[in-house]
Amino acid sequence: MKILLSNDDGCHAPGLVCLREQLRTRHEVQVVAPDRNRSGASNSLTVLNPLRALRHDDGTICVDGTPTDCVHLALNGLLDFKPDIVVSGINAGANLGDDTLYSGTVAAAMEGRHLGYSAIAVSNVSHSPEHYEAAARVVLRLLEQIERDPLPGDTILNVNVPDRPFEALQGFEVTRAGNRHRAEEVLKSRDPRGRTIYWIGAAGAEADCGPGTDFNAVASGRVSITPLLVDLTRHSMLERVGRWASTL
Ligand code: MN
Repeated sequence: MKILLSNDDGCHAPGLVCLREQLRTRHEVQVVAPDRNRSGASNSLTVLNPLRALRHDDGTICVDGTPTDCVHLALNGLLDFKPDIVVSGINAGANLGDDTLYSGTVAAAMEGRHLGYSAIAVSNVSHSPEHYEAAARVVLRLLEQIERDPLPGDTILNVNVPDRPFEALQGFEVTRAGNRHRAEEVLKSRDPRGRTIYWIGAAGAEADCGPGTDFNAVASGRVSITPLLVDLTRHSMLERVGRWASTL
């Protein structure tokens, strides 16, 4: 397959480099990724400033933009070929439950949703991973499956892999996204010149994390695979809110 590889940790991040090397054993890989860590960028697109893309000697292209900018640019003029699929990662840190709303890793995959195959976002659930190779092997397995049995092109597979050797993973589980409690308090402090600064707090603890959720799978040592959809419509509310229409 022709793979467009991106991430949100930056084009030199060890997770991306490990995945690139593994994917290259069987596929054609082009990296287009942010030139610095853009974790938490979600689906932001840079529209008020131009973007610059720097091609390194090894072919990696680094862009001074967000993960979404990278994939958007790659698919709409930067590359002279059309990839079959976008793979994003390997992220350092979990993207479980509502993390997916903030995740630049998931956003990069999402931006590739108009391609022929479903896109893959992959994360190692540890913030200081030691076993990126396990997650890379998981992606290779998934690509084999996708080639045999393509999913609709607007499907995003959000994959979270426990930080352990591949042989120690306790299997694969297809899951639904759980959710977290609200985030911890914002930290308020002062900069060296006495001005107030704020630091966004850590993500909240797991709330909806029972059997069947992504949280539960990784806590049990299994690879979690959650198929995501971009449609945010709350279909179950269409009729009820629809009844308002005549009275508004
Ligand atoms: Mn990240």
